Amino acid sequence: MNTLEEIAVKVKACQSCRLYEGRMNAVPGIGNSKAEIVFIGEGPGKGEDLQGEPFVGAAGKFLNEMLAGINLKREDVFITNVVKCRPPGNRDPLEDEVMACTSLYLWKQLELINPILIVTLGRHSMHNFLPETVKISKVHGVPMRATIKKTGKIFNVLPLYHPAAALYNGGLRQTLISDFQKIPQVILSLKNIGLTRLPKFEAKSRIETRRT
Ligand code: URA
Ligand code: SF4
Repeated sequence: MNTLEEIAVKVKACQSCRLYEGRMNAVPGIGNSKAEIVFIGEGPGKGEDLQGEPFVGAAGKFLNEMLAGINLKREDVFITNVVKCRPPGNRDPLEDEVMACTSLYLWKQLELINPILIVTLGRHSMHNFLPETVKISKVHGVPMRATIKKTGKIFNVLPLYHPAAALYNGGLRQTLISDFQKIPQVILSLKNIGLTRLPKFEAKSRIETRRT
């Protein structure tokens, strides 16, 4: 699996956790293989499962609008999810599902793209990079460094609220919009300071259950 296309082929045929049972389409992710920014949601919803593409519903429309607000299109960035198949009834993905899917696919996607910044959408996505004790209400909009234990790779992570959570909540919506507008400045400073001055967190250790 040395290209994003190869990963996508594997994802579409994957049966490595129970989530394959209920899916119509697996959703590997979409966008630019050389993206400076990768957005990571939690998992596909109903529309995403039907279309095989991430963030195509109401939350996706909101995400597109926020991207346009900083002069970016979906094609400029890479958009994916922690788990690539829709959990039944949109429940939260379970620990073993997250472990299977990230260790097989997400870490590899991030390694291949090697973005300047990872933007996590929602607390579930964030907790794959920052410790469980970190509260999104405290750290949203604050760029940090995080080490992925499995690969040892250090990434810059900007935790944001999830667009679906913010969509119909006025206060949260405004907070997400203003956090989102910080992205260009964060990218610029990361380029200027050489990526090294952010506070560092260790990602939660995930015990491997499966191998490629
Ligand atoms: N919510 C997510 O977390 N991911 C999607 O792809 C769509 C909605
Ligand atoms: Fe495979 Fe991930 Fe889908 Fe589970 S969620 S079946 S690990 S692609």
